[in-house]
Amino acid sequence: MQQRLSSDTSALGRAYDVVVVGSGYGGGVAASRLARAGQSVCVIEKGKEFLTGEFPSRLPEIRRELQLNGARLRSGSPTGLFDFRLGADIHVLVGCGLGGGSLINAGVALKPDARVFADSAWPGEVRSDGLLELGFARAAAMLRPQAYRDAASLTKYRALEAASAAFDVPPVAAPVVVSFEDVVNPAGVAQPACTLCGDCCSGCNVGAKNTVAMTYLPDAKAYGAEIFTELSVSHVAKRDGGWRVHFAPSDDRERDAGFVDAKTVVLAAGTLGSTEILLRSRENGLGLSDRLGERFSANGDIIAFALGGSERVNAVGVGHPPKFVGNAVGACVAGQIELADCEVLERSMILQEGVLPSALAPLLPVFFIAGGRLLGAAQSLIKGVYHGPLSHLHTFFVVSHDDAGGRIALNEGKAEVQWAGAGDQPVYARVDDALTKAAQAVGARYIKSPLVATRVGTKPATAHPLGGCGMGEDAASGVVNHKCQVFDGKETNGVHAGLYVCDGAVIPRSIGVNPLLTITALAERAMVHLARDHNLGFDDGSRLRQELNQALS
Ligand SMILES: Cc1cc2nc3c(=O)[nH]c(=O)nc-3n(C[C@H](O)[C@H](O)[C@H](O)COP(=O)(O)OP(=O)(O)OC[C@H]3O[C@@H](n4cnc5c(N)ncnc54)[C@H](O)[C@@H]3O)c2cc1C
Ligand code: SF4
Repeated sequence: MQQRLSSDTSALGRAYDVVVVGSGYGGGVAASRLARAGQSVCVIEKGKEFLTGEFPSRLPEIRRELQLNGARLRSGSPTGLFDFRLGADIHVLVGCGLGGGSLINAGVALKPDARVFADSAWPGEVRSDGLLELGFARAAAMLRPQAYRDAASLTKYRALEAASAAFDVPPVAAPVVVSFEDVVNPAGVAQPACTLCGDCCSGCNVGAKNTVAMTYLPDAKAYGAEIFTELSVSHVAKRDGGWRVHFAPSDDRERDAGFVDAKTVVLAAGTLGSTEILLRSRENGLGLSDRLGERFSANGDIIAFALGGSERVNAVGVGHPPKFVGNAVGACVAGQIELADCEVLERSMILQEGVLPSALAPLLPVFFIAGGRLLGAAQSLIKGVYHGPLSHLHTFFVVSHDDAGGRIALNEGKAEVQWAGAGDQPVYARVDDALTKAAQAVGARYIKSPLVATRVGTKPATAHPLGGCGMGEDAASGVVNHKCQVFDGKETNGVHAGLYVCDGAVIPRSIGVNPLLTITALAERAMVHLARDHNLGFDDGSRLRQELNQALS
């Protein structure tokens, strides 16, 4: 039986060697590595813990897990799994729960084009000290990305193959952090094989997705880390040569519930969360770089649709236990078309086929009728999305590049992305063009957004927020250095001893691939540096060492 990882808040101590704030990829890496290095570690996570089987699988459940946060609109529980930030210029979706975005993502794990790291936006050491490769190998050893061997047998993969005629570039199977066979993973957790149910983006109720909650966090717990959920960190402050972390219950942020002290604090609350905490810390007197909040990128990330083709796609999840027994759907992403531009990196894009979660199935006909786009959607409403026209719905995820020109600022104490003209970034026109061609190749109509008739549907949206605490050579160019240490803003290279940011916030530009592997690799790299700087050693354990050797060979 799966063990809960989190403890009751009453067990929270007054002081630890390390407090990790947030529990996505960056937080998971920090907690696991520093616990293995013999540090007393406390993890504080804003969201709830979900065990396998507890993820939303019906519409009312998914509604309960939806939080909308915008200047004019706040609704839903502050611990809802799907945290939508509605902005005036761009919307952002992030995961909220023990495991962060890993709980609701598609799990595609890709390394960026080498030209991404050649950009001077990164501090030189990232390129030169050889530890980035080690970081990628360590990330791969724990998360174990692999392509589904029989990807080409899936209907949705074949539909992508048909669409690829538009580019003369065949699709390839996409590596995803999914266990396709029963396994005991490097953290010692037994995971059953993926049932190809397609519900990865509403949470895996099988236990086959290699989330942070299945890998790094149980590993951290096994080495003594204490994990607390439903607590929201407001800010950090210097205290007696260390740090004081202030928090409140997530459902009552007005109440200053308390604080916990630590020699080292790793902020890993995600791009919006970590930047928000530092912005509030600055309001409370902490000196920081003036670059804080800048270089926000949406990573050219787009979700769009095509409908009306003659062939079935089967790209709506069936869930677990299955709501419909027919063709296997496949993990959320099984295939991708890599459209690399050898001359201009920014024009490169990757087009992936995706799956919508089964819990949304009852809504899909309504979405498409409301937009007036789907003749015959009523038929789908009656027959269900697994038989009617919606079984021909293509879902595309695209990832590419923008100019990282957004800025995260506080609006009534909450992070908000400001990016005038975000929708005019050239990437959106390029993607529209590519998807229009892909849709035409399968005789379907491109649908940019089924919500286009609403105010929400006219703005770009991303599930890959990056930046805000970008790496730089010094405080004039970045918020953290190449080791993820936070610049103190006073001297060119001076840092706050013991304060780190380890998550998507440190990435100073778009990376053109789904970001989980890069975030994990950069966090692994930062932990190697931290261990070296403090004379600590990781105990990698035999299973992990074996995987690591494989990943490095
Ligand atoms: C639907 C969807 C699909 C995606 N698909 C893919 C994919 O296929 N491949 C890929 O590479 N990426 C994908 N992503 C993106 C990827 O999941 C994120 O980039 C990644 O999770 C970010 O990791 P992180 O460590 O930066 O932070 P997160 O994973 O966002 O974790 C941050 C954690 O900190 C917590 N937190 C925030 N504020 C506070 C606070 N004040 N106090 C305490 N805790 C706090 C949050 O609740 C969260 O749990 C997807 C994302 C979504 C939403
Ligand atoms: S397809 Fe289903 S079983 Fe497989 S990883 Fe995704 S949610 Fe889990």
